Amino acid sequence: MSAPSQSRSLAPSWLSEPDDANALTPLVWPTAATRDGDGVLRLGGIPATALREHFGTPLWVLDEDEVRATARRTLDAFRAAAALHGVQARVYYAGKAFLSAEVVRWVTEEGLAVDVCTGGELAVALAAGADPARLGFHGNNKSVAELEASVEAGIGSIVIDSLIEIERLAAIVDRRGVRQSVLLRVNSGVHAETHDFLATAHEDQKFGFTLTDAAAAASRIRELPGLDLVGLHCHIGSQIFGTAGFEESASRIVELHAELLAGGELPVLNLGGGFGIAYTSVDDPTPIEELAMGIADAVARQCEVRGIPIPNLAFEPGRAIVGRAGVTLYEVGTTKPVEVDGAERLYVSVDGGMSDNPRPALYGAEFSARIASRASDSEPVLVRVVGKHCESGDVVVDAEYLPGDVAPGDLLAVPATGAYCFSLASNYNYVPRPPVVALRGGEARVIVRGESIDDLLARDAGLTGHPEKGIDMPVLSDRSEDK
Ligand SMILES: *Cc1c(COP(=O)(O)O)cnc(C)c1O
Repeated sequence: MSAPSQSRSLAPSWLSEPDDANALTPLVWPTAATRDGDGVLRLGGIPATALREHFGTPLWVLDEDEVRATARRTLDAFRAAAALHGVQARVYYAGKAFLSAEVVRWVTEEGLAVDVCTGGELAVALAAGADPARLGFHGNNKSVAELEASVEAGIGSIVIDSLIEIERLAAIVDRRGVRQSVLLRVNSGVHAETHDFLATAHEDQKFGFTLTDAAAAASRIRELPGLDLVGLHCHIGSQIFGTAGFEESASRIVELHAELLAGGELPVLNLGGGFGIAYTSVDDPTPIEELAMGIADAVARQCEVRGIPIPNLAFEPGRAIVGRAGVTLYEVGTTKPVEVDGAERLYVSVDGGMSDNPRPALYGAEFSARIASRASDSEPVLVRVVGKHCESGDVVVDAEYLPGDVAPGDLLAVPATGAYCFSLASNYNYVPRPPVVALRGGEARVIVRGESIDDLLARDAGLTGHPEKGIDMPVLSDRSEDK
């Protein structure tokens, strides 16, 4: 019993020692995650050990049933909240959280629209067969080529982010003789960060128009026959708990929305995404039904005060749709106890790391972990799960309690990795990116194949030759030619 009491002092204040370091924290793990009688973790009905045997590690696992159920539940929640106020709601899946053809099909089959922010994301959504009319495109620096591609595809809406973009897009639609629906991105001055929100009058960020500048931008758009301004758009941040930040932001946006109604109709109000999920036992996400009701009520109240009709609502959840459905499986390679000021921490090194999950290094994000290949009644010890990269910031789980007998060969599962892991992954240290395996109805199938070392070498023109001629300028002052 001496080891745990020592290690406790290195644990962050939020982390408490669990009674059972095998237990799967509710909300953090996919709904269907269980432990078999023999202690093996089962995901989507399949033993994690079978997944390792078949697909190897590291492995991104995505529970398709969970994604679909969450997409349906989210759509139902926003539709029900909007219907109470006599309006409609559209839910866009924010593709940047995790985009692949299969995921596009799952969410669109469940009734969601899709939101993209680059030409690459647009290409994936279109290739997967998404209805272009149900796609939205946002971003602060869309290229002319990206705007052209969107308009050519017949995209449903483009979220305008700057004055320059207004003219850029107007030129494109004029040349093509089409009319494009657009929204105007506004920053409300509300920034929400997890449990708190901050409301400012002035904005110092790259996205969108300030509340003050938005009216002039709206007027300019309305002067242009090729652009159809259908509403305002606002996104206040990510991994937000509670309704207060959304309600404050919605109130501010409705004030602007009301003002702009003097110049024409605005049938839509898009309030973005950012709904938080549970990464660890202390995260307590607000149920989506409660968020939807709170936000719709706030909008309705503000509209009533101003005597204006309630617009149709749109939302863009990304993390909240796919985050909980993802689990990453790693194999433990080495362990190393470290003593700091008389307290102990066990470093557990796995065969992936910041290349498959850069969120801890990027944002200091917290995750949790469990041994997946067995249950253990060994006393819990404080661990830090780290990757194999040449970077001391290469942390997967900064602080967690695992059974003290965790050892090389154990399979380790990190839950809540469905959002912003695959999409932010890299090849740092020439580590090939893992495959993505989807689970549905007791079946597992690869939906994005893993990379091989050959894939990585294939881009190196020093190995494959230089088929494309680059720039070949004559050297002007080459003295040797004078002679
Ligand atoms: C990132 C982003 C989202 C999705 O955010 P989540 O936190 O994943 O819900 C939605 N809308 C916009 C404009 C974004 O930039």
